[in-house]
Amino acid sequence: RAKKHLGQHFLTDENIAKDIVNGLTGSGYETIVEVGPGMGVLTKYLLETDRKIFLAEIDEESITYLKKNYGTVEDQTFIGDFLKTDFEFSGQQQTAVIGNFPYNISSQILFKIIDHHMIIPEMVGMFQKEVAERTAAVPRTKSYGILSVLVQAYYDVEYLFTVHENVFNPPPKVKSGVIRLTRNLKPGLEGNEHLFKQIVKAGFNQRRKKLSNSLKILEIPEVLQDHEFMDKRAEELSIEDFISFASLWKSQK
Ligand code: SAM
Repeated sequence: RAKKHLGQHFLTDENIAKDIVNGLTGSGYETIVEVGPGMGVLTKYLLETDRKIFLAEIDEESITYLKKNYGTVEDQTFIGDFLKTDFEFSGQQQTAVIGNFPYNISSQILFKIIDHHMIIPEMVGMFQKEVAERTAAVPRTKSYGILSVLVQAYYDVEYLFTVHENVFNPPPKVKSGVIRLTRNLKPGLEGNEHLFKQIVKAGFNQRRKKLSNSLKILEIPEVLQDHEFMDKRAEELSIEDFISFASLWKSQK
């Protein structure tokens, strides 16, 4: 029986499972961690690859099932709660992340990946369609926001395909979308990350206002008060705009 509070919706379509696993490019990493393997619909294809596989699962029943049904899965393969790991399990080796993610913690998973971008070169995963779209969104669209800018500052995002709700047991209320992230740290971000995140968050928290208004809470440096961006709204700025703005701002501090 699926546990709702753990976001359990089990994928029942083997071809879609294969397509998700095939979304991994196979290069640039030594190990793979799967988030929420559940009954192992993706896991069995991952175990066919020649990489070391780790499984982040918090449901004891699923863990017991996986150990019983997949011979190569050992105790040390399990790393528990994905939101709590520091990737010590992989010895800080480059690690790809894959999963049909529990939707109640979608943004937390994305923020976890950003925080560990140094060891995660790639991610292929399924989210609710709306989150997948927000992550992949471009400027001047409704979906473009904090998630788009923060993720795209570290990763290129590709929207791979949409998945219908009727291929899950139990079916979720909404459609799902599979995306791939490929690490591509945008130039100028290093050293300015904290301020960059603050500016992005403040800007989009009042997305209808011009930046001259929405950024007030951050105490805008004098010399930036007449900057051309101040007359714009957050959704009009590209990732590069936000990064160059943050580094300019930092240099004034
Ligand atoms: N991979 C399976 C599939 O595709 O059928 C299950 C996907 S289900 C949408 C999400 C899975 O994530 C569940 O097995 C759930 O127990 C697990 N899960 C929930 N929260 C988790 C967390 N914080 N860390 C790791 N796994 C989690």
